[in-house]
Amino acid sequence: FQHSKAPLPTGKLSTHRVSQFAMTKNPDITNEPMRDYLPKKVQGQTVEKQLNPSKISDTICTFEMASDSQIQQAIQGSLEARKTWSEMPIYDRQAVFLKAADLIANKYRYLIMASTMLGQGKNIWQAEIDAAAESVDFLRFNVKYSTELYSTQPPENSPGSWNHMEYRPLEGFVYAVSPFNFTAIGLNLSAAPALMGNVVLWKPSNSAVLSNYLMYKILEEAGLPPGVIQFVPGDAVSVSKKVFESPDFAALHFTGSTHVFKSLWKTIGNNIDIYKSYPRIVGETGGKNFHLIHNSANIDNVVNQTIRGAFEYQGQKCSACSRVYVPSSLWPEFKSKITEKLQSVKLGNISNPENFLGPVINDTAFNRIKSYIEYAENAEDCTIISGGKCDSSVGYYIEPTIIQTTNIKSKPLIEEIFGPVLTAYVYPDNEFEKIISIIDSSTSYGLTGAVFAQDREAVIYASNKLVNAAGNFYINDKSTGAVVGQQPFGGSRSSGTNDKAGSASILSRFVSPRSVKETF
Ligand code: GLU
Repeated sequence: FQHSKAPLPTGKLSTHRVSQFAMTKNPDITNEPMRDYLPKKVQGQTVEKQLNPSKISDTICTFEMASDSQIQQAIQGSLEARKTWSEMPIYDRQAVFLKAADLIANKYRYLIMASTMLGQGKNIWQAEIDAAAESVDFLRFNVKYSTELYSTQPPENSPGSWNHMEYRPLEGFVYAVSPFNFTAIGLNLSAAPALMGNVVLWKPSNSAVLSNYLMYKILEEAGLPPGVIQFVPGDAVSVSKKVFESPDFAALHFTGSTHVFKSLWKTIGNNIDIYKSYPRIVGETGGKNFHLIHNSANIDNVVNQTIRGAFEYQGQKCSACSRVYVPSSLWPEFKSKITEKLQSVKLGNISNPENFLGPVINDTAFNRIKSYIEYAENAEDCTIISGGKCDSSVGYYIEPTIIQTTNIKSKPLIEEIFGPVLTAYVYPDNEFEKIISIIDSSTSYGLTGAVFAQDREAVIYASNKLVNAAGNFYINDKSTGAVVGQQPFGGSRSSGTNDKAGSASILSRFVSPRSVKETF
């Protein structure tokens, strides 16, 4: 497996793992004809803008918000496309997605990275592991896993009869709702069900329309028949309302906030009588991911991994570390090393590859994150030990911020912030077991977490006790950066249905098996 050559601002943090696909050396993002790919204008529609969060005076693209009748048309169009797509042999469908993977890897690599950088505020290193590497990984590994699913051991036969299983597409259409933070996730939310023979209505985040639209165009160029995926930017509430009124709604494939997922689930529940089948509901939602430090941990590794886990992509990964529990014996060293290192971490426009942090995505995110920092400034039990400045005059910039709290139930320690804010709690060395039970029970989430220890007993104890607190559990490594094909990703509790993106099991959610017995 390849390792990223991404230079870090300090030049001292450890190398982080990325996809198995080769990494960029000298990206030249100027030679791609991006304008040719921009969505065409339609008369009479509400037009929205996607801004460059690094420099909000720049508009990245404008797009039309789908009207009710267009959503209806998209549903009808997908059901029409379903007639042939669902009958197509799996190997023909696989060919489309393998071709798309090649197009992303070879032809559109810089285009897709540039649109992710400019539109979603990722620096080149983060854009690369997402748009260029993870996208390709999702497409290629899904093909591998679909082959495995279709070649599952057939059922037993008995004398005079022959049995077999067929993995049919769902009856109806899949609704994919994707987030701003990973271009690859948008692609996967629509491509994975489509690979399994389904048709998909894909509603991208309005903060990631350009990169997601380009992915959609790449799928088209790879041979995806018209109508199989319907790309429908729009107002989330009205698109969802219209979709859930359709009797043909067959599945929700979602990544986003816990709150939105629960509200979509409730609407589906309320409408249950109108659907032809019980809809499949697959979702990956929020997290309050932890780093638990044992007093046997290697402190330099802890500091490096915590900076990466908490602050890469401005902490806007569902998996980002946002709470760290440090034993009192290591606290002085941890505090001085992490604050010192953060001094040399640069924040600014993503067009400068030296900037480790770029902007947060939009004004809503900026205001939410800022409000947590302001809360900490005013709360008696919180101290800001690093960062804290927020400036939205040019772009949505927030310094990497560390809050120390003495209150185990403090708001920043238990609520998801989804930004570059890490909250630290210092515990007595001899209360390792107690702190584990607090980590397990103090939030409703269960997405990712990490334990740092050289003492093997401590590792095993934490691993056994934190079984449901993290669907992705890391030992001596940061809580982010799951690699498709290596660490299938997802959590349970209010972090999601834990169907694991990038795995064979999630593909099985998008098929409806038929058991066939023939006697002779
Ligand atoms: N899979 C990503 C990671 O492991 C996070 C995905 C997300 O933010 O939803 O860091």
